[in-house]
Amino acid sequence: MTRHEDSDALVFFGASGDLAFKQIFPALYQMVRKGGLNVPIIGVAKSGWTIDNLRQRARESLERHAGRLDEAVFTRLVERMQYIDGDYRDIATFRRLRALLKDAKRPLHYLAIPPSLFRDVAEALHQAGCAEGARVVIEKPFGRNLASAQSLNQLLLRYFPEPAIFRIDHFLGKEAVENLLFFRFANTFLEPVWNRNYVHSVQIIMTEAFGVQGRGRLYDELGAIRDVVQNHLLEVVAFLAMEPPVRTEAEPLRNEQVKVFEAIPPIDPRHIVRGQYKGYRQEDGVNPASKMETFAAICLEVDSWRWTGVPFLIFAGKSMPVTATEVIVKLKKSPLWKLPVGSNYFRFRLGPDFSLSLGAQVKRPGAPMEPAPVELSAMKLDATGELAPYERLLTDAMRGDPMLFVRQDAVEAAWRIVEPILGGGAPLYEYDPGSWGPAEAARLAEHAGGWHHPAPNS
Ligand code: NDP
Repeated sequence: MTRHEDSDALVFFGASGDLAFKQIFPALYQMVRKGGLNVPIIGVAKSGWTIDNLRQRARESLERHAGRLDEAVFTRLVERMQYIDGDYRDIATFRRLRALLKDAKRPLHYLAIPPSLFRDVAEALHQAGCAEGARVVIEKPFGRNLASAQSLNQLLLRYFPEPAIFRIDHFLGKEAVENLLFFRFANTFLEPVWNRNYVHSVQIIMTEAFGVQGRGRLYDELGAIRDVVQNHLLEVVAFLAMEPPVRTEAEPLRNEQVKVFEAIPPIDPRHIVRGQYKGYRQEDGVNPASKMETFAAICLEVDSWRWTGVPFLIFAGKSMPVTATEVIVKLKKSPLWKLPVGSNYFRFRLGPDFSLSLGAQVKRPGAPMEPAPVELSAMKLDATGELAPYERLLTDAMRGDPMLFVRQDAVEAAWRIVEPILGGGAPLYEYDPGSWGPAEAARLAEHAGGWHHPAPNS
């Protein structure tokens, strides 16, 4: 298969699932609307459905998530859809898929299914002759630890070559996250200060003003470290810390990403504070004695020429006062006349809205040489033309472009970093819902001037 030949069919397993409802139907609809998806779309599930149920589910999903529904686009979408009802543990399901694929030579199989089924589905695709020439998209979480990720990689690589495997991390499909890279390497003013000589500390903050939202059973198997730190937040660290790739292409970029992960020593359990919000254990599906963390504050190092000695602080929590994802890159203080000036910083707002600000100091009007902090909002970006992450990533996968997907060595290197803090060895502190997490987390950010708390809006 040539890497950039488009896929000629799109199969999505888990058609009756939550992810399909929230993300996949809206992504497919937008792809059809823009004329970029003209191939058969085959949904697979085991709900006893017919094609009419699938179409009805697509309509309900779009009415909920796609704004005003354009009936002509919807008709084009559902005309391309076909449906297979069957169990993933039954090879007959995949024989039917083989028959429906007809002469498709480069199908894309999207495994939007519980991770416990990835192996069965990959093996069955191979056995039924659906894997040859195909691409496969794997949802997160990719493994539960280093050993299981390695074993899943080995299995997949038996049936699919690495360029045909697309490990999805929807964070990489976010415009604001990609902009971190662009901003860093497209602006020459940044390079002289973007290193240990000028940067004081880096904070990556992801807070959610909600709990497990009915997904308690799944979340209780993951916790904050597996759910967002090992993947989303370490990807952001890599984008912030990497060296410029030699070309803006997938492999040079992914090489630099892996180098960052390799420069991060496995996290010392003394450098994490875990928390659980009060009431979590009473959530549906959660073990009433659960020790799973819904909050993690972590201090790590990137032990590279550029970054050694600069603390990278990660803060992730549920049931916090606001929903926001922000990065603060704080510079060292100016020695100006020993005045108590604050630091300069860059603030990247990655969600839910998108902005970039520079924190600066000016003279307070009237007062004799006293500083006042100001924030220069460098951009409040217009989101017109922006693709939702799943639309962006599915479009890329259909084209065979792996740039925004996670390569085997990166996924394993990221697990290696969090491995020492996965077992629940670090103490777990309770915190009040709606607070900024356990007070014990403060010590990790003392040397960085305390934790940054994002505001509700940019
Ligand atoms: P769900 O549990 O909602 O859906 C899973 C799908 O798998 C359903 O269509 C279900 O069919 C099907 N299924 C389960 N067992 C079998 C089987 N033996 N044979 C055939 N079909 C089966 O999961 P989600 O949609 O929430 O998640 C899917 C994947 O996406 C997971 O890997 C998850 O971690 C990942 N993900 C989900 C997110 C979300 O917001 N939902 C966010 C990020 C990642 P049926 O209903 O008929 O049993």
